[in-house]
Amino acid sequence: MKNIVVIGAGTMGNGIAHVFAQTGYSVSLVDISADSLQKAIATIGKNLDRMVAKGSIDEAAKSATLANINTQTNLKAAVENADLVVEAATENVDIKLQLFRDLDQMAPAHCVLATNTSSISITKIAAVTGRPDKVIGMHFMNPVPIMKLVEIIRGYSTSDEVSIAITELSGKLGKVPVTCNDYPGFVANRILMPMINEAIISLHEGVAGVEEIDTIMKLGMAHPMGPLQLADFIGLDVCLAILRVLYDGLGNDKYAPCPLLVNMVTAGKLGVKSGEGFYDYSEGLKAAKVSKTFA
Ligand code: NAD
Repeated sequence: MKNIVVIGAGTMGNGIAHVFAQTGYSVSLVDISADSLQKAIATIGKNLDRMVAKGSIDEAAKSATLANINTQTNLKAAVENADLVVEAATENVDIKLQLFRDLDQMAPAHCVLATNTSSISITKIAAVTGRPDKVIGMHFMNPVPIMKLVEIIRGYSTSDEVSIAITELSGKLGKVPVTCNDYPGFVANRILMPMINEAIISLHEGVAGVEEIDTIMKLGMAHPMGPLQLADFIGLDVCLAILRVLYDGLGNDKYAPCPLLVNMVTAGKLGVKSGEGFYDYSEGLKAAKVSKTFA
């Protein structure tokens, strides 16, 4: 696999493009929004600068990484020579199904189609293509350049050959691949999202405030960040979409999204990416403060 196409230049897409490019792959980063593409390249540049400042890479590696990435708004032109597509577009089932229908028509027959979906069924996505054996979940964690795990999800029809190739490739990227089967939320989000939802319910019911909940979970459980801060980093819209998939797919009330989460997403308070969630990021990430009294 030489030519990699990453679809979606948001929170995850820019990080995925970064790690492939830094490993020496040629990457086309595709988005419907030229603005998202511009922001993604700026973010990758800033993240590489931080790595240079820390001494983990040199200026030459930074330039080589940036030179390996080109941006595209035209999907067909981007995928015509692709060996692997990693889809990281918005977590919306209709968007993903349409993208995979298009990709199946546009990408060469040998091309593997991977999705970074957090929760949507790989089997369902694969079923709209004529190559379900070549469709697989490649679930990177946020922030991609730092987090080691790639959750590899085998759909019902994913072939052994594709599963082995994607596992090996993840290793080449310096990641630790771990394989699981295709059930709602896979492993990571089936366990993480109920915890985040419970933290929001605790806030909503007035059990404690934002900082208290996050501090208790940070210091008490040795988590690097509290669940509300983590939800802001993931994106509250993404958390809500995943909880809905768990709720619909597993049919258990325990996955019902907290009404406060639903309200915040409806109000456009999506966390870090919109500038406000449980915390206010208008003064930057380091100066984040609790955005309001929620009880
Ligand atoms: P995001 O909202 O930050 O970015 C999504 C990008 O996709 C946007 O730039 C949007 O313009 C683009 N897009 C939408 N439709 C498109 C299309 N048809 N073609 C090309 N681009 C399109 O979302 P994100 O947080 O980066 O999430 C992307 C995927 O990664 C989702 O499937 C999500 O579940 C998954 N994921 C997210 C996280 C996280 O922490 N945010 C972690 C792991 C996996």
